[in-house]
Amino acid sequence: MGIFSGLKNLGLGDLEGSDLFAEEEKAEQAAATAAAAAEPVQPEEKDFIFDRSFTCPVCDSTFTSRVMKTGKAKLVSMDLDLRPRYVGIDATKYDVELCPHCKYAALTRYFTAMTPGQVHLIKEQISNKVKLQPHTEDYYTYEEAIERYKIALVCAMVKKAKNSEKAYICLKSAWLLRGYREELESKRQLLPQQREELTQQEMEYLQNAFKGFVEAQKSERYPMCGMDEYTMDYLTAALAYEVGELDMASQYVSRLLASMANNRVKDKARDLKEMIVDKRKELGN
Ligand SMILES: [Zn+2]
Repeated sequence: MGIFSGLKNLGLGDLEGSDLFAEEEKAEQAAATAAAAAEPVQPEEKDFIFDRSFTCPVCDSTFTSRVMKTGKAKLVSMDLDLRPRYVGIDATKYDVELCPHCKYAALTRYFTAMTPGQVHLIKEQISNKVKLQPHTEDYYTYEEAIERYKIALVCAMVKKAKNSEKAYICLKSAWLLRGYREELESKRQLLPQQREELTQQEMEYLQNAFKGFVEAQKSERYPMCGMDEYTMDYLTAALAYEVGELDMASQYVSRLLASMANNRVKDKARDLKEMIVDKRKELGN
Protein backbone atom coordinates (compact mmCIF):
# COMPACT_ATOMS: atom_id res chain seq x y z
CA MET A 1 0.00 0.00 0.00
CA GLY A 2 1.44 3.27 -1.03
CA ILE A 3 0.28 6.82 -0.71
CA PHE A 4 -1.34 6.49 -4.12
CA SER A 5 -3.30 3.37 -3.36
CA GLY A 6 -6.94 3.96 -3.78
CA LEU A 7 -6.50 6.27 -6.77
CA LYS A 8 -8.57 3.82 -8.72
CA ASN A 9 -11.49 5.01 -6.70
CA LEU A 10 -10.81 8.47 -7.98
CA GLY A 11 -10.67 7.28 -11.53
CA LEU A 12 -6.93 7.57 -11.53
CA GLY A 13 -6.15 3.90 -11.25
CA ASP A 14 -3.39 4.08 -13.85
CA LEU A 15 -1.41 6.29 -11.50
CA GLU A 16 -1.54 3.83 -8.68
CA GLY A 17 1.93 2.79 -7.69
CA SER A 18 3.46 5.96 -9.02
CA ASP A 19 6.51 7.33 -7.35
CA LEU A 20 5.86 10.85 -6.07
CA PHE A 21 9.47 11.85 -6.19
CA ALA A 22 10.44 10.03 -9.33
CA GLU A 23 10.61 13.13 -11.50
CA GLU A 24 12.52 15.07 -8.91
CA GLU A 25 14.98 12.26 -8.45
CA LYS A 26 15.49 12.12 -12.15
CA ALA A 27 15.89 15.87 -12.21
CA GLU A 28 18.36 15.69 -9.38
CA GLN A 29 20.27 13.00 -11.13
CA ALA A 30 20.35 15.05 -14.31
CA ALA A 31 21.57 18.06 -12.33
CA ALA A 32 24.29 15.98 -10.72
CA THR A 33 25.37 14.64 -14.10
CA ALA A 34 25.44 18.16 -15.50
CA ALA A 35 27.46 19.37 -12.52
CA ALA A 36 29.93 16.57 -12.95
CA ALA A 37 30.30 17.45 -16.60
CA ALA A 38 30.76 21.13 -15.78
CA GLU A 39 33.28 20.46 -13.02
CA PRO A 40 36.57 21.65 -14.46
CA VAL A 41 38.85 18.82 -15.37
CA GLN A 42 42.06 19.29 -13.42
CA PRO A 43 44.38 20.85 -16.01
CA GLU A 44 47.66 19.14 -16.61
CA GLU A 45 51.03 20.83 -16.61
CA LYS A 46 51.18 20.71 -20.40
CA ASP A 47 48.03 22.85 -20.57
CA PHE A 48 49.88 25.76 -18.98
CA ILE A 49 52.75 25.85 -21.46
CA PHE A 50 53.41 26.25 -25.16
CA ASP A 51 56.36 26.00 -27.54
CA ARG A 52 57.90 29.34 -28.32
CA SER A 53 60.45 29.83 -31.01
CA PHE A 54 63.82 31.41 -30.16
CA THR A 55 66.84 32.44 -32.17
CA CYS A 56 70.08 31.55 -30.46
CA PRO A 57 72.38 34.55 -29.94
CA VAL A 58 75.41 32.25 -30.03
CA CYS A 59 74.87 30.02 -33.08
CA ASP A 60 71.92 31.75 -34.82
CA SER A 61 69.90 28.52 -34.92
CA THR A 62 66.18 28.63 -34.38
CA PHE A 63 64.77 26.30 -31.77
CA THR A 64 61.70 25.96 -29.60
CA SER A 65 61.55 26.07 -25.86
CA ARG A 66 58.59 25.49 -23.57
CA VAL A 67 57.33 28.60 -21.88
CA MET A 68 54.47 29.33 -19.54
CA LYS A 69 51.29 30.84 -20.92
CA THR A 70 50.74 34.31 -19.51
CA GLY A 71 47.83 34.64 -17.10
CA LYS A 72 46.67 31.03 -17.37
CA ALA A 73 48.00 29.61 -14.11
CA LYS A 74 46.69 30.98 -10.84
CA LEU A 75 49.21 32.40 -8.38
CA VAL A 76 48.27 31.23 -4.90
CA SER A 77 51.13 32.34 -2.68
CA MET A 78 54.77 33.26 -2.39
CA ASP A 79 57.44 31.75 -0.23
CA LEU A 80 59.49 33.90 2.12
CA ASP A 81 62.16 34.28 -0.58
CA LEU A 82 59.59 35.31 -3.21
CA ARG A 83 59.23 31.93 -4.91
CA PRO A 84 55.83 32.04 -6.61
CA ARG A 85 53.45 29.12 -6.17
CA TYR A 86 50.95 28.43 -8.93
CA VAL A 87 48.22 25.83 -9.12
CA GLY A 88 49.15 23.02 -11.51
CA ILE A 89 52.60 24.17 -12.54
CA ASP A 90 55.97 25.13 -11.11
CA ALA A 91 56.80 28.29 -13.08
CA THR A 92 60.48 28.11 -12.20
CA LYS A 93 60.95 25.08 -14.45
CA TYR A 94 60.13 27.20 -17.49
CA ASP A 95 62.49 30.11 -16.99
CA VAL A 96 65.61 28.77 -18.71
CA GLU A 97 66.11 28.80 -22.48
CA LEU A 98 68.50 26.19 -23.84
CA CYS A 99 69.73 26.00 -27.43
CA PRO A 100 69.91 22.30 -28.35
CA HIS A 101 72.46 23.04 -31.10
CA CYS A 102 75.23 24.91 -29.27
CA LYS A 103 73.99 24.16 -25.71
CA TYR A 104 73.93 27.79 -24.68
CA ALA A 105 71.46 28.31 -21.83
CA ALA A 106 70.36 31.28 -19.75
CA LEU A 107 67.44 32.62 -17.77
CA THR A 108 64.87 34.04 -20.18
CA ARG A 109 65.55 37.66 -19.25
CA TYR A 110 69.27 37.29 -19.98
CA PHE A 111 69.14 34.94 -22.94
CA THR A 112 69.57 37.31 -25.87
CA ALA A 113 71.92 39.93 -24.46
CA MET A 114 75.35 38.69 -25.52
CA THR A 115 78.59 40.44 -26.42
CA PRO A 116 80.79 38.98 -29.21
CA GLY A 117 83.31 38.07 -26.51
CA GLN A 118 80.69 36.06 -24.60
CA VAL A 119 79.57 34.29 -27.79
CA HIS A 120 83.16 33.25 -28.36
CA LEU A 121 83.55 31.96 -24.80
CA ILE A 122 80.38 29.85 -25.02
CA LYS A 123 81.37 28.35 -28.37
CA GLU A 124 84.82 27.59 -27.07
CA GLN A 125 83.96 26.23 -23.65
CA ILE A 126 80.39 24.93 -23.79
CA SER A 127 79.26 23.88 -27.25
CA ASN A 128 81.54 20.90 -27.74
CA LYS A 129 81.48 19.72 -24.17
CA VAL A 130 77.89 19.65 -22.98
CA LYS A 131 75.96 16.45 -23.73
CA LEU A 132 72.21 16.74 -23.36
CA GLN A 133 70.17 13.86 -21.97
CA PRO A 134 67.17 12.69 -24.02
CA HIS A 135 63.81 13.72 -22.55
CA THR A 136 60.44 12.58 -23.80
CA GLU A 137 57.75 14.16 -21.62
CA ASP A 138 55.48 16.87 -23.04
CA TYR A 139 56.48 19.15 -20.15
CA TYR A 140 59.74 19.77 -18.27
CA THR A 141 60.23 17.22 -15.53
CA TYR A 142 62.22 18.35 -12.51
CA GLU A 143 65.18 16.26 -13.69
CA GLU A 144 65.16 18.03 -17.05
CA ALA A 145 64.65 21.47 -15.50
CA ILE A 146 67.49 20.90 -13.04
CA GLU A 147 69.75 19.93 -15.96
CA ARG A 148 68.77 23.13 -17.83
CA TYR A 149 69.53 25.27 -14.77
CA LYS A 150 72.89 23.59 -14.29
CA ILE A 151 73.87 24.37 -17.88
CA ALA A 152 72.61 27.94 -17.47
CA LEU A 153 74.75 28.37 -14.37
CA VAL A 154 77.84 27.01 -16.11
CA CYS A 155 77.16 29.27 -19.10
CA ALA A 156 76.79 32.28 -16.78
CA MET A 157 80.17 31.48 -15.26
CA VAL A 158 81.82 30.95 -18.65
CA LYS A 159 80.37 34.13 -20.18
CA LYS A 160 81.44 36.06 -17.05
CA ALA A 161 77.92 37.20 -16.25
CA LYS A 162 77.24 39.80 -13.58
CA ASN A 163 76.92 38.65 -9.98
CA SER A 164 73.20 39.39 -9.99
CA GLU A 165 72.59 37.05 -12.93
CA LYS A 166 74.56 34.24 -11.33
CA ALA A 167 72.85 34.83 -7.99
CA TYR A 168 69.43 34.78 -9.66
CA ILE A 169 70.16 31.40 -11.28
CA CYS A 170 71.22 30.09 -7.85
CA LEU A 171 68.05 31.43 -6.25
CA LYS A 172 65.84 29.84 -8.89
CA SER A 173 67.79 26.58 -8.69
CA ALA A 174 67.03 26.56 -4.96
CA TRP A 175 63.35 27.10 -5.75
CA LEU A 176 63.48 24.25 -8.24
CA LEU A 177 64.98 21.82 -5.73
CA ARG A 178 62.35 22.88 -3.19
CA GLY A 179 59.63 22.22 -5.74
CA TYR A 180 61.14 18.84 -6.60
CA ARG A 181 61.32 17.84 -2.94
CA GLU A 182 57.72 18.92 -2.37
CA GLU A 183 56.50 17.05 -5.42
CA LEU A 184 58.19 13.83 -4.36
CA GLU A 185 56.84 14.33 -0.86
CA SER A 186 53.28 14.83 -2.07
CA LYS A 187 53.56 11.63 -4.10
CA ARG A 188 55.06 9.89 -1.08
CA GLN A 189 58.13 9.06 -3.14
CA LEU A 190 60.69 10.98 -1.13
CA LEU A 191 63.29 8.74 0.49
CA PRO A 192 64.95 10.05 3.67
CA GLN A 193 68.37 10.18 2.04
CA GLN A 194 67.02 12.06 -0.96
CA ARG A 195 65.26 14.52 1.31
CA GLU A 196 68.57 15.23 3.01
CA GLU A 197 70.39 15.62 -0.30
CA LEU A 198 67.79 17.91 -1.85
CA THR A 199 67.57 20.04 1.29
CA GLN A 200 71.33 20.35 1.43
CA GLN A 201 71.61 21.24 -2.26
CA GLU A 202 68.87 23.82 -1.88
CA MET A 203 70.77 25.35 1.05
CA GLU A 204 73.97 25.53 -1.01
CA TYR A 205 72.14 27.36 -3.78
CA LEU A 206 70.53 29.73 -1.25
CA GLN A 207 73.95 30.49 0.24
CA ASN A 208 75.36 31.24 -3.19
CA ALA A 209 72.37 33.38 -4.09
CA PHE A 210 72.76 35.34 -0.87
CA LYS A 211 76.49 35.87 -1.41
CA GLY A 212 75.95 36.85 -5.05
CA PHE A 213 73.20 39.38 -4.31
CA VAL A 214 75.23 41.00 -1.51
CA GLU A 215 78.13 41.41 -3.95
CA ALA A 216 75.83 42.61 -6.73
CA GLN A 217 74.36 45.30 -4.51
CA LYS A 218 77.83 46.78 -3.98
CA SER A 219 78.51 47.33 -7.65
CA GLU A 220 75.41 46.99 -9.85
CA ARG A 221 72.58 49.32 -10.67
CA TYR A 222 68.83 48.86 -10.22
CA PRO A 223 66.59 47.41 -11.41
CA MET A 224 68.45 44.19 -10.73
CA CYS A 225 66.92 40.94 -12.02
CA GLY A 226 63.84 43.04 -12.68
CA MET A 227 63.61 44.11 -9.02
CA ASP A 228 63.91 47.55 -7.50
CA GLU A 229 66.24 48.37 -4.62
CA TYR A 230 63.68 47.71 -1.89
CA THR A 231 62.51 44.39 -3.25
CA MET A 232 66.13 43.34 -3.59
CA ASP A 233 66.82 44.41 0.00
CA TYR A 234 63.86 42.38 1.18
CA LEU A 235 64.96 39.35 -0.84
CA THR A 236 68.51 39.58 0.51
CA ALA A 237 67.16 39.83 4.05
CA ALA A 238 64.98 36.76 3.48
CA LEU A 239 67.93 34.83 2.07
CA ALA A 240 70.10 35.91 5.01
CA TYR A 241 67.42 34.55 7.31
CA GLU A 242 67.17 31.28 5.40
CA VAL A 243 70.91 30.64 5.48
CA GLY A 244 71.14 31.56 9.17
CA GLU A 245 72.86 34.97 8.83
CA LEU A 246 70.53 36.58 11.34
CA ASP A 247 72.60 39.72 11.97
CA MET A 248 72.71 40.46 8.27
CA ALA A 249 69.00 39.75 8.00
CA SER A 250 68.31 42.24 10.81
CA GLN A 251 70.46 44.91 9.18
CA TYR A 252 68.63 44.63 5.89
CA VAL A 253 65.24 44.65 7.60
CA SER A 254 66.09 47.76 9.67
CA ARG A 255 67.32 49.54 6.59
CA LEU A 256 64.12 48.66 4.78
CA LEU A 257 61.82 49.78 7.57
CA ALA A 258 63.61 53.16 7.66
CA SER A 259 63.43 53.51 3.87
CA MET A 260 60.89 54.92 1.44
CA ALA A 261 59.80 51.38 0.48
CA ASN A 262 56.07 50.90 -0.08
CA ASN A 263 53.82 49.34 2.55
CA ARG A 264 53.67 46.00 0.82
CA VAL A 265 57.43 45.57 1.10
CA LYS A 266 57.51 47.02 4.60
CA ASP A 267 54.79 44.61 5.74
CA LYS A 268 56.84 41.70 4.49
CA ALA A 269 59.89 43.15 6.24
CA ARG A 270 57.92 43.38 9.50
CA ASP A 271 56.86 39.74 9.20
CA LEU A 272 60.46 38.80 8.61
CA LYS A 273 61.57 40.84 11.61
CA GLU A 274 59.25 38.78 13.82
CA MET A 275 60.61 35.58 12.35
CA ILE A 276 64.15 36.73 13.11
CA VAL A 277 63.20 37.48 16.72
CA ASP A 278 61.57 34.04 17.06
CA LYS A 279 64.59 32.36 15.52
CA ARG A 280 66.93 34.10 17.96
CA LYS A 281 64.79 32.93 20.88
CA GLU A 282 64.81 29.41 19.50
CA LEU A 283 68.58 29.52 19.21
CA GLY A 284 68.91 31.17 22.63
CA ASN A 285 70.81 34.27 21.60
ZN1 LIG B 1 72.82 27.97 -30.15
